[in-house]
Amino acid sequence: MSMNCKPIATVDERINDIRMRTAQIVNEDILPNESTLWARRRGIADGTDESWTARKDMLELRAEIKERVKKEGLWAPHLPAEYGGMGLDFLAHAYMNEVLAYAIGAASLFGVVAPNSGNQSILVKYGTEEQKQKWLLPLIDGTMESGFSMTEPHNPGSDPRSLDTTAVLDGDHWVINGHKWFTSNGIEADFFIVMCRVTERGASPKEGPMAQIIVPTATAGVDIVRGIGVWGRSESDHCEVVYRDVRVPVDNMLGRVGEGHQAAQDRLGAGRIYHCMNSVGQMWRAFDLMVERAESRTVHGGLLKDKQFVQGFIADSYIDIQSSRLMTLHAAEKVDGGLQGARTDISAIKIMVPAAYSRVVDRAIQVWGAAGVSNDLPLAGMYMGARTLRIADGPDEVHKILIAKNVFGQYAKGESWDFGN
Ligand SMILES: Cc1cc2nc3c(=O)[nH]c(=O)nc-3n(C[C@H](O)[C@H](O)[C@H](O)COP(=O)(O)OP(=O)(O)OC[C@H]3O[C@@H](n4cnc5c(N)ncnc54)[C@H](O)[C@@H]3O)c2cc1C
Repeated sequence: MSMNCKPIATVDERINDIRMRTAQIVNEDILPNESTLWARRRGIADGTDESWTARKDMLELRAEIKERVKKEGLWAPHLPAEYGGMGLDFLAHAYMNEVLAYAIGAASLFGVVAPNSGNQSILVKYGTEEQKQKWLLPLIDGTMESGFSMTEPHNPGSDPRSLDTTAVLDGDHWVINGHKWFTSNGIEADFFIVMCRVTERGASPKEGPMAQIIVPTATAGVDIVRGIGVWGRSESDHCEVVYRDVRVPVDNMLGRVGEGHQAAQDRLGAGRIYHCMNSVGQMWRAFDLMVERAESRTVHGGLLKDKQFVQGFIADSYIDIQSSRLMTLHAAEKVDGGLQGARTDISAIKIMVPAAYSRVVDRAIQVWGAAGVSNDLPLAGMYMGARTLRIADGPDEVHKILIAKNVFGQYAKGESWDFGN
């Protein structure tokens, strides 16, 4: 089924034009070719001649689509124009992203894929000119890959201030020691941005200001222990990494010492919105699949669409999608006015959208029966992705605490909450 995307009457012409051209690529180039484009995920690349042909076809097709995306001026919507991106604000990006995310994996074909996109954004904001030349430009060209290495197995990721990876200055080098895990894209990455504490030799690792340091993965002492198996799979690209006396030049410090926590929050704040925009597009797809099956499957003498249980699924999913979508657009608009003023809205969508996404996909799977959990449909992958999002980017509980803190803070100043702003 094609995505039905028509111009929105209340949205300006430029955004509608971007949406329509994005939908055209999704409908013409990506949806009809999903099984070729993501052959590896479907287990075709098993080392046989046939698998190598499939891999070649896959890479060629991806390159062709990326070329068309670039020609259309739809590449890297999150990046400023001077770095080869579209220079879109968050609101325009949200309107575009709900369209492109309808197709599985399409974000990577439009040059915006985590964790590279988040790393690009912080390199744009905090990087020196030299760092931009060395790390940012190759990351945008696609000749380099990257990871963001913050979470540690022995400390709660939901409280990033607990981290104890250290960076000690030794002459003109930083010496890094620590243990991380769930560093995504770790297998492919050429460099990691590592969150650590700058300390003196022998000082407590829990002390010292936070900093982010660029660490090439080929540096001596960077040990990529494993790609952690997730969701029953034996391996993933979410890596466990040990840093043992890793020496990198002082110039690899990203931003100033002490800016690390703020830089991570900037990165994660934007990342949370991107993930919600993606979830909206994926829900839209799951919804279409659910309706398609309900209209065609006959059970117990009637079409599923005529059963009230299924009608309830459709109505509840409509409500989940539209409320998630409007809250995401609202949060994106707020972010355009400044990240600080949008913190409550970002936390609200971080909780709301992945939960709604889980519910919508769960219903779609139920309507499809056994086919719903099969690899013939994208629903099983979406289900795992939706569940994971309730933990990644900070678990729901942390965001609820933050919302309550912001609300009480406002009332403590003698002002009640203004839902209109
Ligand atoms: C697929 C995936 C990819 C990831 N990619 C990256 C990456 O690229 N880089 C990176 O650095 N990290 C990454 N992470 C790690 C992620 O950011 C952390 O898992 C997350 O921040 C939670 O930290 P934790 O796992 O240590 O859970 P913990 O902090 O131990 O929390 C466990 C649970 O405790 C509960 N909880 C926490 N605080 C409270 C509270 N105050 N009150 C009540 N309950 C609470 C929550 O339910 C939470 O789920 C990834 C994780 C996943 C699953």
